[in-house]
Amino acid sequence: MDAVDNREFAAEYSKCGIDLLNTRGANFVKIVYSSVDEVVSCEINRLCAEEGVIPTCKAGCFHCCGQHILTSITEAQALAHYIKYSFTQDQIEKLRLRTQQWHEWDETRRSCSTLTDGQSDFSAYCYCPMLVKGECSAYSMRPLICRTHFVSSDSPACRPFQDPESINDNPVALASVLAATSPFSIMIREHIENAGLNFYGSLMLLPHWLAIEMDWDFATTPQMK
Ligand code: SF4
Repeated sequence: MDAVDNREFAAEYSKCGIDLLNTRGANFVKIVYSSVDEVVSCEINRLCAEEGVIPTCKAGCFHCCGQHILTSITEAQALAHYIKYSFTQDQIEKLRLRTQQWHEWDETRRSCSTLTDGQSDFSAYCYCPMLVKGECSAYSMRPLICRTHFVSSDSPACRPFQDPESINDNPVALASVLAATSPFSIMIREHIENAGLNFYGSLMLLPHWLAIEMDWDFATTPQMK
């Protein structure tokens, strides 16, 4: 991936006041997601029928929600739009607090990279702020990366590697599911590029985008590490 400075992207973005999520944009994201879900379902059925491969992903498992979830501007705006129109004020406030905690964790994580062991007791991973009681609170609008990630390995392999219950093996992702849905990733990339923006520059961790799009005062646009 091209190492684009996200701060430059954010400056360009806020200067232009670009909103990719007009009514057409919102419908575009919904259509993409629903098409992705169909393709994923077909590919999983095919894998099961032709290759005997069955995903080990199950409802109630959320280990992958502790991984870094990269999101583009279009998906971030779609998610924020969904939150603003579907969540109660109380849900939004709780989400704001979880996202703020995530940002505090992220700040510590970044500063810890310059400290030696033992100088900090910070937790080495933090779950996505959208996660509530082990479930995605925006399941129908979860980003592409969350919709297309399936594994055939045991669930401990999906735990963030700093988790004491994590095992050394890497998770075995179902690559053919990702491949089958790649045309939709390209559609999103083209949607962003057609608006004159740099797709790779628009990729940031989901909680960063969330704070920006929800206009929360702790929003930051750190350079990706
Ligand atoms: S958006 Fe939902 S599915 Fe994706 S990482 Fe966050 S909680 Fe998990």
